[in-house]
Amino acid sequence: MIVGVDLGGTKIATGLLDAGGRMLARSQKATAGLKSSEEVIQAIVDTITEVSGEHEIAGVGLASPGAVDTRRGIIRNGVNLPGWNGISLQAELEKRLQVPAKLINDANAAAWGEYVYGAGRGAQSMVYVTLSTGIGSGLVLDGKLYLGTSSFAGELGHTVVDPNGALCGCGQRGCWETYASGTAIARQASEAAAAAAEGMTQMTVLAEAEGVPLSAKHVFQAAAMNDKLAQETLEQVIHYTGLGLMNIIHSFNPDCIVIGGGVSRAGAAFFEPLRGKTGELVMEPYRGTYAIKPAELKDDVGIIGAAALFVE
Ligand code: ADP
Ligand code: ZN
Repeated sequence: MIVGVDLGGTKIATGLLDAGGRMLARSQKATAGLKSSEEVIQAIVDTITEVSGEHEIAGVGLASPGAVDTRRGIIRNGVNLPGWNGISLQAELEKRLQVPAKLINDANAAAWGEYVYGAGRGAQSMVYVTLSTGIGSGLVLDGKLYLGTSSFAGELGHTVVDPNGALCGCGQRGCWETYASGTAIARQASEAAAAAAEGMTQMTVLAEAEGVPLSAKHVFQAAAMNDKLAQETLEQVIHYTGLGLMNIIHSFNPDCIVIGGGVSRAGAAFFEPLRGKTGELVMEPYRGTYAIKPAELKDDVGIIGAAALFVE
């Protein structure tokens, strides 16, 4: 049995998995009330003890957002937890639980999970991309999770597709995620709506009917209803998303690209034009060498991917 822990921004989600990747038990705790790193570590240990029961545990994998130094077993930054930076969480877990532990960035965990148990099964080289609030990614190259010198490899959301583009949270301009994340789709749609003479489009009508801000989901819905502005916005989004995939294909020559995150929920309306555009953009020798697939693992991808670190 293996344990996977997903240390998210708001909760600790922990699962007990068998060697086939089936989840046998699950436990969850909110992080909101936790006031120190000691309390967070204790909460993690409690969820692990809870799911483990009487089972013998081969290892505990833990996924966390932000900069995770897998080789040194520490979370460098990026988690909204008090007094967290630099603590050797791996050593703490191993000491308290007396089992091997591994730490990993959440996008890398998702990549490994999709490779071992999901849409990337059987691939030689697979790149995982999550199109969510931002863009995360992870690389499995020649069958191995590629971490890089400081285990920070795979921040493909911050590769630049337009040096004169929109300002990104990272300080650069025109990062891929400022064009192709869910947040970016909504922003570009709002800009297009504001610039339109009428100002009002099917997208804004849908958002107002729900009483929520315009989101990527509304853009896809409006495009399906033949809203011209939504269709033009998506055309631009697909172009930039394809540019990012082109960069990935030219850099890593993967046979499989797996796309997850909220935007992937748009389904065929997203994947079909994206496959077409990417095929137009890549250089000739790369055509037909790769598949672009929707992710298969859903909400528990972090737990499953972290646990899969202990699968050979
Ligand atoms: P998080 O970033 O919190 O992990 P998600 O992976 O769910 O969250 O991504 C959220 C983004 O996905 C939002 O921008 C949202 O508008 C978008 N999204 C959610 N559902 C859909 C959908 N059916 N079609 C297109 N975009 C969607
Ligand atoms: Zn950036």
